[in-house]
Amino acid sequence: MLVFAVETSCDETSVCIMDDNKKIYSHIIFSQEVHQKFGGVVPELASRAHLEIIQKITKKAFQEANIKPKEVDVYAATCGPGLIGGLLVGSTFTKSLAIGLNKPFMPINHLEAHLLSTSFNNEIVFPHISLLVTGGHTQIYLLKSYNNILLLGETVDDAVGEAFDKVAKLLGLSYPGGKQLEQKAKNGNSEIYDLPQPMVNKNNSNFSFSGIKTAVNLLCKKNELNEKFVENISASFQKCIANILYTKLENTILQLRKKKFNILSFSLVGGVANNDYIKLIISKLQNTQKINMIIPKKEMMSDNAAMIAWACIKKFDRKLIDINFKADPRLKV
Ligand code: ZN
Repeated sequence: MLVFAVETSCDETSVCIMDDNKKIYSHIIFSQEVHQKFGGVVPELASRAHLEIIQKITKKAFQEANIKPKEVDVYAATCGPGLIGGLLVGSTFTKSLAIGLNKPFMPINHLEAHLLSTSFNNEIVFPHISLLVTGGHTQIYLLKSYNNILLLGETVDDAVGEAFDKVAKLLGLSYPGGKQLEQKAKNGNSEIYDLPQPMVNKNNSNFSFSGIKTAVNLLCKKNELNEKFVENISASFQKCIANILYTKLENTILQLRKKKFNILSFSLVGGVANNDYIKLIISKLQNTQKINMIIPKKEMMSDNAAMIAWACIKKFDRKLIDINFKADPRLKV
């Protein structure tokens, strides 16, 4: 089965051609730079940027793959959640190709695609826990099987990626600042600032991060924003976030084990899984809880169309083929 997939839910325009033997013929990720000067993603600009580039990279992907559009068996696109303008561009474009070529169209849930991304390069043993950390979501899921996925908890305010970008902005780093903050943290002392860890001791799987940002803001007002301060606060902030994620995930594993779920493995997915420090702290659960950690392939961590193609292959079912599926900005797993 040959799949052509499109991802346009936020500020990455991406297309991928993949077959069910996991062969990736072409995978293009175009990161929009138009948002940099605004310090965050501007939805209207994102939609326009998707519209400008999608046709070009689709043509390029077919050329690179040396495949003709009519050879594709299924067309798939992210249909939510995400920014509605981008979702409409990607899904309508892909549906049009499917209609024109008389091929099936499969709508894909972006979050589900993140959750399934680890199964491309790993064997998932069920029941399985997944911590999804991105710029828009911070959630813990229980996967009983590929078709039985349960949301256990999520952030009540900011997502982790969002908190990173907002704190980076307070520290004067340019957008998107999460990556730069990680670099600054490498030279900083994480013991200098003791930042709050909201909800960490609550007996549930929910998170809250906006209070940490407020605490950083107060410290920024009291201190001079010099290099040393930026490095130390970056290190302290990153440590605080990693500790919250670690504690919440550990607590969730313990709670599930009490309920007789034999959890043997967990995954860390989404763009924030690229953060080496967070990955290192979370990986400690392998020893403390005797549990195996799996992560997606590097190119399938941040938003990308390979995970959309893979989700299509993994979930393919004639019943799910739906040309009338409407893009939904709040689509749930
Ligand atoms: Zn995402």
